[in-house]
Amino acid sequence: SYRMALQAEAKRIAAEFDYSDAEVNKGVAEFIAQMNEGLEKNATTMSQIPTYVTGVPNGTEKGLYLAVDLGGTNFRVCSIQLHGNTTFSIAQSKVAIPKELMVAKTAKELFSFLAKQIELFLKEHHEDHFDAHIKRRQTASTPEGYRDEHIFRLGFTFSFPVHQIGINRGTLIRWTKGFDIADAIGQDVCVLLQKEIDLLKLPVKVAALVNDTVGTLMARSYTSPGKTSTLLGAIFGTGTNGAYVEKLAKITKPMEGEYDSSTGLMVVNTEWGSFDNGLKVLPTTKYDTALDKDSINPGIQMFEKRVSGMFLGEILRTVLVNILKDPKVALFADENSSQNDYSTTASVAKDSALYKDWAVDSSILSVAESDNTVGLKTLRQTIEKDLGVRAPSLEDAQLVKDVAHAIAKRAARLAAVALAGIVLQTGRLTRGAGQAPGPKSSAAIVEDVKSGNVVEAVAATASKLANAAGLGTDEEEIVDIGVDGSLVEFYPGFEDLVRETFRAIDGIGAAGERRIRIGIAKDGSGVGAALIALVAAKME
Ligand code: ADP
Repeated sequence: SYRMALQAEAKRIAAEFDYSDAEVNKGVAEFIAQMNEGLEKNATTMSQIPTYVTGVPNGTEKGLYLAVDLGGTNFRVCSIQLHGNTTFSIAQSKVAIPKELMVAKTAKELFSFLAKQIELFLKEHHEDHFDAHIKRRQTASTPEGYRDEHIFRLGFTFSFPVHQIGINRGTLIRWTKGFDIADAIGQDVCVLLQKEIDLLKLPVKVAALVNDTVGTLMARSYTSPGKTSTLLGAIFGTGTNGAYVEKLAKITKPMEGEYDSSTGLMVVNTEWGSFDNGLKVLPTTKYDTALDKDSINPGIQMFEKRVSGMFLGEILRTVLVNILKDPKVALFADENSSQNDYSTTASVAKDSALYKDWAVDSSILSVAESDNTVGLKTLRQTIEKDLGVRAPSLEDAQLVKDVAHAIAKRAARLAAVALAGIVLQTGRLTRGAGQAPGPKSSAAIVEDVKSGNVVEAVAATASKLANAAGLGTDEEEIVDIGVDGSLVEFYPGFEDLVRETFRAIDGIGAAGERRIRIGIAKDGSGVGAALIALVAAKME
């Protein structure tokens, strides 16, 4: 019957997205192998970019910092007051970037606009505090005349591909997202911004160039409960990526920039979106193959194409279009059509999002998952509104729900592969308590680090902090992960699916899974950038 045909079809397709425990374990092993390859040499599948950030905060950091974020359409300026007790206050302004500046003749036109926005922000939010200082600076005759401790340190989140060569140095590789200013290519974006800031004589130093995943890691580490510092920051939004705390000794490929090696640690930006571009272990359906072929970058970002928000809706669309082509299956069929002729799909509008590449938003997966009513009323309304299907039946909606669940479940299990790969790579579970990395330094610990007793030094710091906080070893044994992005924030049960997968992974299991804490990192780009500026200031 009609009902049975759709049910069977949903079941058959869902099975195509199965990703077994055995395959997951193979994936984790390969993820770790590709991580290590990226630490050893350049031009590997996972870039494993050294960030020159050599410590993560523990929540006791204090001070007032500036952060700016040049993303796609807006420029955000904010100041962050870190209270030193895991909390912060934030003031911010946002301005749309004028279209003509995105394609200006010279970089100067864009960056002088950005500096002007920083000046306006300081005047609006920090006039009292800095008035006298700004005046003094603006009347000083040499730059040296106004270098003092009142200078604002600024973290610059710049979401375009850069070749980072130091904590506040990075050259632009290419523009994306509609920007096109030829003379900026190859220039250091921090220098470009600093020059314009100096022309306005603002008391601001561009202290750090920030990648958004590193910002997520830092923000979570500052705000996470207790004294546990965070191991890993991950984004599951439009794209997916992660940054984690690695032992400096494991980064054996050449690093151009300067950094402070006393912590024995460095944050690495994995660029895991391109994990397994060669498709050795990633699960691949015919839908994945079709999507990749139609994408602007075939063969690239293969992990991301199975995991992130930009692609999950498109995978669902590809599946549904495939079913619509099958005359034997009555998806979105006109109820009045005869049982033996399902060729009519008259109930799908000609201009339906189903017929447009990339037109189905991943948020429909969340709607499908959260509608647990008997009649699937909300999901049917969404199918009608977003997919342009007239009066979808309960059976139609049930198929969409089952297929969407299968796609999201595979994405969550793949997310678990990446997270588990990093947890295992760092040895944080097997070596137990005292492995919490951190920038905490005392003279004795610095001595230990210098003499090579890095592990003991870090352990001493962690237990000292635990004692100071009156915490038991349970607190130290927690492995903390900070996450951000709409998929992990809004897809119901995403974390549960990740956890279920953790329990099936060799080396983690149920005991390890219990020790892993996952928390949302809010305001990552602002607070994270401020914290990196703080870390950078310590290195000056
Ligand atoms: P960004 O990563 O660009 O900073 P987001 O974290 O908001 O921004 O991610 C946006 C992506 O998440 C888009 O690809 C969108 O389709 C997807 N998305 C938005 N809402 C949801 C939702 N409720 N469930 C699943 N995916 C969503």
